[in-house]
Amino acid sequence: MMSLSSRFLILFGLLAITSTAQYNYTKGDADSGDTFTAPGKYKTVALSDATFKPGKRPMNVIVMIGDGMGAAQAYAAYTANGGALNMFNMPYTGFSCTQSSNNYITDSAAGGTALSCGVRTKNGAIGVDSTGKALRNISEILSQRRKSIGMVATSSITHATPASFVAHAASRNSEEDIAVDFVHSQVDVFIGGGRKFFINRTDKINYTDSLKTYGFSVFDHIADAKGAKVAVFTSDEANAQYPKRGEILPEATKKAIDLLNRNKKGFFLMVEGSQIDWGCHANNLLFAVNEALDFDRAIGKALEFAKKDGNTLVIVTADHETGGMALTGGNFGKGMIKAAWTTKDHTAIMVPVYAYGPGAERFTGVYNNTAIFDKIMKVVK
Ligand code: MG
Ligand code: ZN
Repeated sequence: MMSLSSRFLILFGLLAITSTAQYNYTKGDADSGDTFTAPGKYKTVALSDATFKPGKRPMNVIVMIGDGMGAAQAYAAYTANGGALNMFNMPYTGFSCTQSSNNYITDSAAGGTALSCGVRTKNGAIGVDSTGKALRNISEILSQRRKSIGMVATSSITHATPASFVAHAASRNSEEDIAVDFVHSQVDVFIGGGRKFFINRTDKINYTDSLKTYGFSVFDHIADAKGAKVAVFTSDEANAQYPKRGEILPEATKKAIDLLNRNKKGFFLMVEGSQIDWGCHANNLLFAVNEALDFDRAIGKALEFAKKDGNTLVIVTADHETGGMALTGGNFGKGMIKAAWTTKDHTAIMVPVYAYGPGAERFTGVYNNTAIFDKIMKVVK
């Protein structure tokens, strides 16, 4: 039973006095579990007053992808935050079936490509079909309509999920080639890790210089970022896990919206909570829930904007579930969760889709991941 009990973790999110209190994490034994003090439960964005006429079409679209975030990961975060979550306030929900063209269980490359291009492809493929032919992605399509395009991630910006919305590559592993695609892409604003794939390369070319040649202003800090075309590198590779990296994801989400929203023709923004997946691959409940809560706070930034704007569709979903996570116990008052895992890999289970804004009513039901792309393309102005 030791090996079984070692697969259980207990998480206590104790109500902290201020919202800026530090995390305290204590490694417990197998029976008492691990405990940590959450940095204060946060308020979610109330959306109940907002109504949109059916058939109204949005000018802006924000797609937020919690990599590896199934219903259990979301419910764990909901419990840790005392029974409140921004994504659970979104009025329309559906389920997305995530299999790829060659596998019952998708990876993030094929899963991202289904969302960005509306086509199922082979695991590992970035913005190309199963024969290797480049697909037109949503960034390319909407930039032709003069919309501004943005990407935000806590991983390298060249990692599979954001890459699927920008690049075309047979393999997700060719991150140096994917970086070059970013330079020549339609993206106006990108914020994430992965500086090394632009400057510390096998071909010795400095692609941050190329970014500048193509009109980008390049920054190291989100707060400094300004201009029409902006690249922010918050880290050489992936950013640190939350809370070590700080509030990068909510800040980047807000900054990207501020920069993109200057375009009267509207914008498309993809935001990824990249590391929920990594916490689940490690079967590490603390890691996974911290990342899911951080992602939900970023969702709060998008919903605050969308609520005020009234012309923005927000879609929150996942590319797949990771870990086969099951919640075997919990307590809303204590913010405590007990979880079990069935794998260290991805699973086939369908993932929730949450929608808010004009056109959100189209996202109810059970459908293929590619239908999310189709629905967005049908509704966006
Ligand atoms: Mg990802
Ligand atoms: Zn994964």
